[in-house]
Amino acid sequence: MKLTYYGTGAGEGWPGVFCNCKLCKEARRLKGKNIRSRSQALINDDLLIDLTPDTYMHSLVYDLDLENVNHLLVTHSHTDHFHPADLELLREPFAHNRELFHVYGNESVRNRIWSEVPKVEEVEDCFNFHKAEPFTKLSIKDYIVVPLRALHDRSEECLIYEILQGDKAILYAHDTGAFPSETMDYLMEEKIHLDLVSLDCTTQSEEDGKNHMGLVDAVKQRQLLIDFGLADETTIWVVNHFSHNGGWLHDRMVEEADKVGFLVSYDGMVIEI
Ligand SMILES: [Zn+2]
Ligand SMILES: [Zn+2]
Ligand SMILES: [Zn+2]
Repeated sequence: MKLTYYGTGAGEGWPGVFCNCKLCKEARRLKGKNIRSRSQALINDDLLIDLTPDTYMHSLVYDLDLENVNHLLVTHSHTDHFHPADLELLREPFAHNRELFHVYGNESVRNRIWSEVPKVEEVEDCFNFHKAEPFTKLSIKDYIVVPLRALHDRSEECLIYEILQGDKAILYAHDTGAFPSETMDYLMEEKIHLDLVSLDCTTQSEEDGKNHMGLVDAVKQRQLLIDFGLADETTIWVVNHFSHNGGWLHDRMVEEADKVGFLVSYDGMVIEI
């Protein structure tokens, strides 16, 4: 299985579109891996995670190819993860030769679709919405996808996703603090070995654990997963989803993550397991 990171920044991107802080100015000057667009990832070439406002930019600049993508997992309705207006572009005459498109998400994602997609009744022929319930497996092509409960915005059911294909398993866990006990219970009951775990690191140098994670929180979460027998020394650990308020540009983030055995995502990074 292949995971490609297209957007590795937090809500405002890095640099933040209107931000004049030192770290955003540095990112603008240095460019390269310091530029972090908003959240999006792709499994193989056909399972998209989140529909960021930067999707079109990802297709132009990072070669995100949506030709084979007919399934979209949405983690939650925050604007950096979900830009429903783009769904209108699935319909004729904006797009030709498309198969039916499937969107999986929570109730808030559904509500945003129905309130923000222009002419939603016409677009409805082009896509189906499926409510993703925590701990209820979804069968998508040859994947089994398990939505798990995140610890994030309490006003909606934020999700992280476990994605299984053949004997491989990826856990994509962003916009979450320390995993809620129900999520740990589910993982412990299923006892599926995780080959790749991508953990939130929005607050980088600062501890959080309640809505997001910093590096110390990611280290603690990893230890729990290892202690419960869900991961081991063969598991690949990545931190992702970084905010300019966390204090570390890419090189410093790599330096700090390296000390504790995590890889650091960047826009365009590919990992194969
Ligand atoms: Zn986010
Ligand atoms: Zn800034
Ligand atoms: Zn969020």
